[in-house]
Amino acid sequence: MKDAFSLQDKVAIVTGGNGGIGKAITRGMAAAGADLAIAARNETKTEEAVREIQEEFGTKAIGLKVDLQQEAQIHAMAAKVLKTFGRIDILINNAGTNIRKLPQDYTAAEWDEVLNTNLRGAFLCSQAVYPAMKSAGRGKVISIGSMTSLFGGAKVVLYGISKGGIVQMTRGLAVAWAPDNIQVNAILPGFINTDLSRQARKDVPELETQVISRTPVKRWGEPEEMAGAAVFLASQASDFITGVALPADGGYSIIL
Ligand code: NDP
Repeated sequence: MKDAFSLQDKVAIVTGGNGGIGKAITRGMAAAGADLAIAARNETKTEEAVREIQEEFGTKAIGLKVDLQQEAQIHAMAAKVLKTFGRIDILINNAGTNIRKLPQDYTAAEWDEVLNTNLRGAFLCSQAVYPAMKSAGRGKVISIGSMTSLFGGAKVVLYGISKGGIVQMTRGLAVAWAPDNIQVNAILPGFINTDLSRQARKDVPELETQVISRTPVKRWGEPEEMAGAAVFLASQASDFITGVALPADGGYSIIL
């Protein structure tokens, strides 16, 4: 299989692609040849990410202002990408948010914010790209879970519900869309240096050392280290892989 890892001539949507893990994934996919649509709320950060891709990798990139809590904006996003590029080959459901509290203290509005962004948003984005992928006869949907997809934590109950849901969504969509030649997989990052985890380390000061002592490789991960798994799962090299939740965690999930 020649150039099985190439994303040349492919078009990818990356939600939350303007920062952290999402931005590192867009850069990895651009390096593999993909054209990108970066969907997030902060237009300044998105413009910067688009400019970097165009200048450094020479592939096409557009930015879209999308709040994943708004269903209409998700459908407008898919329509705009189709209109601009004529195809959608890859969806990366990466955008995510967290509110750290004990479960008894959450409001219903906070449930909505976390679950609607992380899980409902990912599901609606997957639905929105499905018709284009089905009619093309192929597609790749990749969603970002977490170690909380696997483990419980006292102050990440809502986040864990959303990330556990990502794994079950992945399995269900993988089965449903296998006849359409659409592969659906998840990546479960370990503890990665981003704005989201910087906030977590502020909220829970002992997290920094807890992560290092438990992780077999004895360090936090960098966003760039998530790009390889995303490129692999977005490429032809993974055409017989569907429904998996791949930890990219320095061994965090396999140590006794
Ligand atoms: P960041 O906070 O750096 O990035 C989150 C991204 O999501 C931003 O680009 C943000 O863009 C976007 N986003 C948030 N809410 C919305 C919304 N309502 N609509 C559209 N976009 C939104 O976090 P990370 O890079 O760390 O996280 C990326 C993913 O990886 C998340 O799903 C997270 O749960 C997951 N993850 C992170 C880990 C870590 O250790 N960092 C570990 C495991 C999983 P904007 O604000 O412009 O909308």
